Amino acid sequence: MPSSKNLVAGVIGVQGDVSEHMGAISRLGTQHNLSIDTFAIRQIGIIPKCDFLTIPGGESTTISRLIDDTGMSSEIITHATSGKPLLVTCAGLIVASSNANDSRVKTLNLLDVSINRNAFGRQIDSLETHLSIVGLNDPFPAVFIRAPAVDSVSKNVEILAEHEGKPVAIRQDNIIGTSFHPELTSDLRIHDLAFFGTTISDSKA
Ligand code: GLN
Repeated sequence: MPSSKNLVAGVIGVQGDVSEHMGAISRLGTQHNLSIDTFAIRQIGIIPKCDFLTIPGGESTTISRLIDDTGMSSEIITHATSGKPLLVTCAGLIVASSNANDSRVKTLNLLDVSINRNAFGRQIDSLETHLSIVGLNDPFPAVFIRAPAVDSVSKNVEILAEHEGKPVAIRQDNIIGTSFHPELTSDLRIHDLAFFGTTISDSKA
């Protein structure tokens, strides 16, 4: 069980790049000189204990079905609507959106955005580019893999970065969403921004 003095981070662990996010959070804790207990979450009951939550990249139709089947969807919604930090990456962004334009994805309606899945090409067309991101001093090495694009945003949503004229990093209150995979690089600044609201690690990990 998490001890009360440590921060608790959860990564929704039903599918996708779960261990990569857990590794990034662990390194972020070290950088902040904080103990963060990190859990891969596959069942209800743990999310309410979490200070930070992540929905990783993977396959949005699968993640959507499994969080719905397990009952975790409503716990994720409660976490986010209570104002606690939530980071959603790639498939996680699709799941957290208000419209995935795909009936197989039961969206959580946490981000007022409409998504075009696989907008930046198929798996084979993955790419890495350096993005300017609001709040970060230097460009961020962004890895895109079958990445979704944000097609439209409501005025509550702040666009933090664009690629090919489409938003690929957004913030709505306590939620940050990216089309790319910050957990696949050693750069911790997106996790830092999402969980601590700072860029203490702007010098890169
Ligand atoms: N295109 C995938 C989907 O629709 C997401 C890809 C990813 O998370 N790398 O779920």
